[in-house]
Amino acid sequence: MKIVVKFGGSSLASAEQFKKVGKIIKKDEARKYVIPSAPGKRTPDDTKVTDLLYSCYGQAILEEDECEENFESLLAAIKKRYEEIISGLGLTLSLDDEFRTIRENFSKKIGRDYAASRGEYLNGIIMAAYLGYEFIDAAEVILFDAAGNFDAEKTDKLLSKRLAKTERAVIPGFYGSMPGGKIKTFSRGGSDITGSIVSKAVHADLYENWTDVSGFLIADPRIVRKPKSIDVITYRELRELSYMGATVLHEDAIFPVRKEGIPINIRNTNSPEDKGTLIVEGTCRKPRFVITGIAGKKDFASITVEKAMMNSEVGFCKKLLEVFDGNDI
Ligand code: ASP
Repeated sequence: MKIVVKFGGSSLASAEQFKKVGKIIKKDEARKYVIPSAPGKRTPDDTKVTDLLYSCYGQAILEEDECEENFESLLAAIKKRYEEIISGLGLTLSLDDEFRTIRENFSKKIGRDYAASRGEYLNGIIMAAYLGYEFIDAAEVILFDAAGNFDAEKTDKLLSKRLAKTERAVIPGFYGSMPGGKIKTFSRGGSDITGSIVSKAVHADLYENWTDVSGFLIADPRIVRKPKSIDVITYRELRELSYMGATVLHEDAIFPVRKEGIPINIRNTNSPEDKGTLIVEGTCRKPRFVITGIAGKKDFASITVEKAMMNSEVGFCKKLLEVFDGNDI
């Protein structure tokens, strides 16, 4: 049994959160491959490390004197966040050399993606040390082409070969590299994609995506009071809900695992006993509810028309569209 586990930023925002994650991983020895995000918000008005890195790099590439000061204070704030995690975990790990390299690369204006990726990279180093797992830099195994598009085929070949030799590993999420080594990131929230790619490469039995909610809810809690959670949802249903604004998982994270038939389980790091939502290709179980979930966008409607013998009725679509037309839809 092989499980790939991805932990989001809020699950890794502090040493306290790291400890919860450590317990979850140790509880099931099938949890062999770990994909960490960068440290996220500790409180609602906190700033994610990824956002601090973007700002810090923004200051590094400007020439004015006051930017130099801002750059220094932002870099110090980022370093402090990691050092607090390291000391809170009781690890003897120094990131001084890493930060020296990061500083040099920032001053060489190495690129915004490199800057953002350091959040996951450094968190991966800490996670590997904490768990005693091997650290694999995503730059070595997640490949993009020269135009900056993810190269699924090359990555799968390389990654599956590399992980076949590695019993347990930490692979930071969100980034990879282009030919020549330049760092490239996925779009925001992209660690979900890395988790999915790794799951495919190791033929995992399950991809667990740990976040700060116990899966998908059947409706938006800001609109409906205490909505129930969704136990099982199909990829197809999920796509509809995501399209309509239900944002728990990055859209592109679905394709790699779906191809392989690997289910995704959305779980809550702060409430690990909850079963969360299981995302599957299809289910022959009688659903708990007739409607899986409801999501919506203002002034936007999606209409499905089903009718027996529709294919034998010439002009049906025309008639249907006329109804919309006549009602100004
Ligand atoms: N750290 C990145 C972001 O904030 C990627 C991720 O968390 O998945 O978007």
